[in-house]
Amino acid sequence: MAEFDFDLFVIGGGSGGVRAARIAAGHGAKVAIAEEYRLGGTCVIRGCVPKKLLVYASRFRDEFEDAAGFGWSLAKPAFDWPTLIANKDAEIARLEGLYRAGLERAGVAIYEARAELADPHTLSLGAGQRKITARTILVATGGRPMVPQVPGANHAITSNEAFHLEALPKSILIVGGGYIAVEFAGIFNGLGVDTTLIYRGPKILRGFDEELRDHLTEELLKRGIDIVCNAEVAAIDKGWGHYHVTLSDGSKVETGKVMYATSRVPNSQALGLEAVGVELGEKGAIIVDKFSRTSVASIYAVGDVTNRVNLTPVAIREGHAFADTVFGNRPVCVDHELVPTAVFATPEIGAVGLPEHLAQARYPKLDVYKARFRPLKHTLSGRDERMFMKLLVDGESGRIVGCHFLGPDAAELTQMAAIALRVGATKADFDATMALHPTASEELVTMREKWVAPPKRVAGEKAGP
Ligand code: NDP
Repeated sequence: MAEFDFDLFVIGGGSGGVRAARIAAGHGAKVAIAEEYRLGGTCVIRGCVPKKLLVYASRFRDEFEDAAGFGWSLAKPAFDWPTLIANKDAEIARLEGLYRAGLERAGVAIYEARAELADPHTLSLGAGQRKITARTILVATGGRPMVPQVPGANHAITSNEAFHLEALPKSILIVGGGYIAVEFAGIFNGLGVDTTLIYRGPKILRGFDEELRDHLTEELLKRGIDIVCNAEVAAIDKGWGHYHVTLSDGSKVETGKVMYATSRVPNSQALGLEAVGVELGEKGAIIVDKFSRTSVASIYAVGDVTNRVNLTPVAIREGHAFADTVFGNRPVCVDHELVPTAVFATPEIGAVGLPEHLAQARYPKLDVYKARFRPLKHTLSGRDERMFMKLLVDGESGRIVGCHFLGPDAAELTQMAAIALRVGATKADFDATMALHPTASEELVTMREKWVAPPKRVAGEKAGP
């Protein structure tokens, strides 16, 4: 009789867990996976995919408006939120089915139940506490929204609920200044909701390049999103069909909905982790080594529950690397450098490599190239929107060390730029690349003039002629 029921038991059917299960099974392991909600995890069920579908929906307003400059006239467009949500739900159900089919094809046993650790090789499953054993256990339970303890915060929604609102509110107040807050501000604004963003710091999207943050803020303000910085919510009171929000300076705002997007925390509670000796770090993140192994030799963890780089493609890579290492006899560790990232605001931003303030600190001679221009389309659409690009170059080696984009398709540009950075492309390589005209991305290979900071003006001195 086999020593264990399974070679591998995966807790969590999201991007990282499913990839690990399929690859391990492909290496010949006997694998099971437990998921208590829906296969697909945050990304498929209530994250990246449905979010991007809502972003597309919100951008049609621009298309309708821009069409006029190109000679089109349209009847006043009407939008129906329930139709969008029903179509989005159908697509998510289809994707969930694909996840299930992929696991079944690979021969992975699927348990639709919550799994908890009983000891380093044993799991209890579901309400009946059925015991299952495995040689190796992978925790891939992801994260969940964190809502600060503010009086009345129970009246607020998070991104989880935003995907299932029965109706669009007339107005919304979104708390936070990170990815989710900014993306949902764009979604609601584009769909005609009066949108306010409340952020505790001086400028949204901390960590991104300063100028990208400045220019995006400017574009969002132009679109009518009210961005209130250096402000925090002190209390939320429910009225009839609306909410009264009191800010920490005592001012009050009335709104149709309050949404918190104030970061996500690892889902590591009540899994029995600490009892079996798995070490947890800040915010409850599972501490792992470069091969995703925890402090207990038979237990590994990948994805958001480890709070390394909380992005879907990173979780997938970590899951794949784990399976190759443990079951494929090929040790692989994931490189967490040069991870491209994008915020799907409207307009969107994307970045790979270092922001300027960090590049300045690391490279003694940093060359900066910038372009800010009106996209060709807007010469006829009349839309007042500027695209922005910035290249950061190590002046000594000539290597590109950071690329930052704001504007249509910034995320697509960022993915391509990430390949260039990965292979160590230099500014000379970019310059030698033929431009593709007319595109926005040709700016990348035609930026010739280094940006020079304008001389600081002395008080009383007159500006030029
Ligand atoms: P982020 O960490 O991006 O942003 C959280 C925001 O909430 C920050 O502005 C933060 O402020 C603020 N905040 C945190 N705690 C409090 C508090 N107690 N009171 C008030 N404000 C607070 O988290 P998100 O929830 O937006 O997203 C979670 C993660 O999911 C992201 O970091 C990203 O890894 C991933 N994600 C990626 C997306 C993409 O790739 N496009 C899209 C959505 C999510 P401060 O800056 O001052 O800390």
